[in-house]
Amino acid sequence: MLKIVLILAGDNTYHYRGAFSKSISYAPLTLTTLAALVPGTIDADIQLIDEGVQPAGYDKLHADIVGISCVTSSSVRARQIAGYWRSRGAHTVIGGVHVTLNPLEMEGVADTLICGPAEETWPRFLQDFIEGRPGNFYSSRSVPAETIPVPARQLLPRKSYLSVPTVIADRGCLNSCAFCSINRLWDCRESARVVPDVIEEIIALKSRRILFLDPNLTADREYALELFEALIPLRIEWAGLSSIDVTRDKSMFSLMVKSGCRGILVGFESMDQVALDQYQKSSNNVTFYREAVDMFHRHEIPVLGTFMLGFENDTVESIEKMVSMIDDSGIDFPRFSVMTPFPGTDPYDWYQGDGRVLTRDWSLYDTEHVVFTPARMTPIQLQTSLVRTWKMIYSPSRILKRLTMLKRYHLLAFMVNIGFHRYVSTLRKRISWGSSHFQKMTGA
Ligand code: SF4
Repeated sequence: MLKIVLILAGDNTYHYRGAFSKSISYAPLTLTTLAALVPGTIDADIQLIDEGVQPAGYDKLHADIVGISCVTSSSVRARQIAGYWRSRGAHTVIGGVHVTLNPLEMEGVADTLICGPAEETWPRFLQDFIEGRPGNFYSSRSVPAETIPVPARQLLPRKSYLSVPTVIADRGCLNSCAFCSINRLWDCRESARVVPDVIEEIIALKSRRILFLDPNLTADREYALELFEALIPLRIEWAGLSSIDVTRDKSMFSLMVKSGCRGILVGFESMDQVALDQYQKSSNNVTFYREAVDMFHRHEIPVLGTFMLGFENDTVESIEKMVSMIDDSGIDFPRFSVMTPFPGTDPYDWYQGDGRVLTRDWSLYDTEHVVFTPARMTPIQLQTSLVRTWKMIYSPSRILKRLTMLKRYHLLAFMVNIGFHRYVSTLRKRISWGSSHFQKMTGA
């Protein structure tokens, strides 16, 4: 029997007993999808390790093949894992966002590199391995709908995540925000699953609540309309990600509400229109933020809004001003990160060209550490602003104020606020203030 261990590599924040409490952790679909892609013709024993919620415990495992998935911030950890398993004689395979965007850098880290979606390449590699001729590089761009399997959810420790099951309908997005890598990972025009397959999977889950992990459920209008229409008879409640412009499309918004939308995550990114335009966030118009949030609230849909600090126009003062604008916006759960120029995206090339990239230690590319010199602040000012902004927004008085303004979903709001409050309480400790990176930031 072929022993396969599949690992989702951790990072500074995403690790066992790390920054994310269960109340804000959802079950990822990467490992369970890879497990489901193992052909039924192969007699395999598959173990999944999500380093975000499980202790590694690799010394107790045996493997013929170890598959590792990583993003930029976990690529350093992925190297360590690959090195460990190679030394034990396992055949190592590495893939994921960072590998897809930076194949040359990752060359030689594992026995086999897989770039792009794994639906076609991972089973092909496994067959080649069985036949004794595994390749060292596999690549693809497209995700043919018929190749996407139902994830093998039973292989992950369910109790470690929110109890709401996760589903993905379309892993692409037709927008092209400069800081986002989605369009470079696969062909986003052909990344959607067939709607009846998605519906069948949801019915089989037998859950009244679903969390969609699609990067943007409403980017492809025709697909979204078909999906929402098909969800209505299921009478489920769901939460997911959407761009804010859905509120300006009355017919799509109405169908979204009818389909059971009960929570939405929106990338507001900035309160400065110039910043949004510079980074091609074409779906956002700050003039309509308040109106959009009100519209969600009228339909009892709480809004989790994400913001990035460190756009070219940002200053210490403008970020402080943003905090009161967020208070006024009515956003239920604001969330912050620092602008992070991921290698393989435009901002990395821009900042690198200007000599503003401070480090290539990818473990610091976790959206909590400042890794470039902003245009109108020092790196330390930006770093301090991130911590201060989180603290201000999740201060007990602001949490209380947001909770008292609610008409519904008090328990959910309380849990999420507490989850973020806990996250904030450990943020300062996670940032390596004394490291050589910070000495470089201060010019010491
Ligand atoms: S809307 Fe979201 S998913 Fe789409 S390109 Fe922009 S950041 Fe990426």
